[in-house]
Amino acid sequence: MQLHFRLEAELRFSAPFTREAEAACTELIAEANRVLFFKGVPKGVETGEVGQIVGAEFADQVVTLTIESGAYTRAHDALFRFRKQIAPKLGKFRIGIREIAVRHFSVTMRGRFPENFRVPQLPFIQNASFAGDTFSFDFAVTAADLENRIPDRFIRLVEEKIEAAAYGGKGEHWELIFESGPKPRHFGGDPTAEMIQRGWIKHAPARGQWIFGPQAVQLFRAFETIVMEEIIQPLGFSEMIFPKMVPWEVWMRSGHAKGVYPEIYYICTPKTRDPAYWEDIGDYFKVTGEVWVDEIRKRIDGPIGGMCYAQCPPFWPFVQGETLANDCLPIRVFDRSGTSHRYESGGIHGIERVDEFHRIEILWLGTPEQTVETADRLHEVYTRVFCDLLELEWRSAKVTPWFMAQEGMVETDTGCGCGGRIGTTDYEAFLPYSTSWLEFQNVSINGDKYPKGFNVKIQSGSDCWSGCSGIGLERWTAAFLAQKGLDAGQWPEKIAKLVGEPKNLFKFL
Ligand code: ATP
Ligand code: ZN
Ligand code: MG
Repeated sequence: MQLHFRLEAELRFSAPFTREAEAACTELIAEANRVLFFKGVPKGVETGEVGQIVGAEFADQVVTLTIESGAYTRAHDALFRFRKQIAPKLGKFRIGIREIAVRHFSVTMRGRFPENFRVPQLPFIQNASFAGDTFSFDFAVTAADLENRIPDRFIRLVEEKIEAAAYGGKGEHWELIFESGPKPRHFGGDPTAEMIQRGWIKHAPARGQWIFGPQAVQLFRAFETIVMEEIIQPLGFSEMIFPKMVPWEVWMRSGHAKGVYPEIYYICTPKTRDPAYWEDIGDYFKVTGEVWVDEIRKRIDGPIGGMCYAQCPPFWPFVQGETLANDCLPIRVFDRSGTSHRYESGGIHGIERVDEFHRIEILWLGTPEQTVETADRLHEVYTRVFCDLLELEWRSAKVTPWFMAQEGMVETDTGCGCGGRIGTTDYEAFLPYSTSWLEFQNVSINGDKYPKGFNVKIQSGSDCWSGCSGIGLERWTAAFLAQKGLDAGQWPEKIAKLVGEPKNLFKFL
């Protein structure tokens, strides 16, 4: 990608320029163009690529600089380097710099854009034009925005969009790790339909939400018992309770703020809890039998965040900003305290893909070695549980989510060979009724993504890494029933015993 920047900025000073001061300033500009702007630029870079002050106009207390650059010592970097240089020199003349005003800032990016490239619609991008291999636009930014590196982040964003398009619409790389091979199948139907039929579950009023009757919960709890006895206790995980309402602050640090928006259940708060403010809303319902949603919308603040999406981000403020003692590592915890919520839109299906689901989230952190070791032990016990206890037909696959490939996490060099282990392993079960595979849980090694985002360190100075594993109870149930059916007589003995006789409490007339 070829970059060209052109920046016009006013440097406003505390006093008018004398002739000597102007001469000194002109001298400094020439010197900056020769020396200062070339500092740190690799050898062999063409001169035209490096930032240069190409114009300087003096008018009373203001110097207007025009700076052009390619990718090196970008125009805005050149501006701030120059400011730093000029301040002490002009101090001699009792002229101090008061402020910088950006008059005009335009950028041209030239290179290979994907066919479907869409210009990011952001408030500070103006007069954008895109044709063929050239994208040019003006930045409507302040000097503070420039110091904040907004232009650089915007250009990085455009580059990421181009890389994402090259990575393919798939968004994930999939590589088989383990396959159980065929297992006894006792059922060819859709487990959700069959559960409804038998009165084990009923659709709840909200989208993608179920009311689970005692029989279904017996299954959930049996699976939970297996997770506790076979996985959580032997590996020494301790129970915590993570919040289920997640403020932006958490998602800003976990990275979810980069793109979780289409699937969030948003959370709002009342503008006030004064009953008088809300009285007519209640009255409206009393009189019309309708909830006055349009009016409610005007009386709420936020959204302040969303409901639990991934289960582990709201754990992290517990360790945020801390240094962990060597002897408490690895930390191994889990949470099963509440529901997760995702707006799955048209994707919802049965109990497999719902908007409200129940998940046990296992989370661990420590050195890279400890983190990888815990993931390996989890893989071992999961394999035993799915093969020997549930007798499932399943497979596991390493998937590299797009964001990880993009953040270069997969190639991280750790010196211990752990770098290549970063990524997610999906566990998928075969669904005979739809002849497709369903992801029913996963194990992720997240590298330093969370410790970095939440500023967590380790006493020894080692990198801090973390991992997590989300066990979806709806998905386990769907996978198990799809293969084994709803008759306990056909189930592996241990499972049948754990679940017990299905309790049928309700008789509908
Ligand atoms: P999918 O590709 O099926 O949408 P995902 O990649 O979005 O899954 P993750 O974000 O990896 O899922 O979530 C971890 C686990 O949470 C999944 O393995 C699954 O058990 C559970 N899960 C995620 N989304 C849902 C859902 N909509 N309904 C039920 N369980 C879910
Ligand atoms: Zn997680
Ligand atoms: Mg999903």
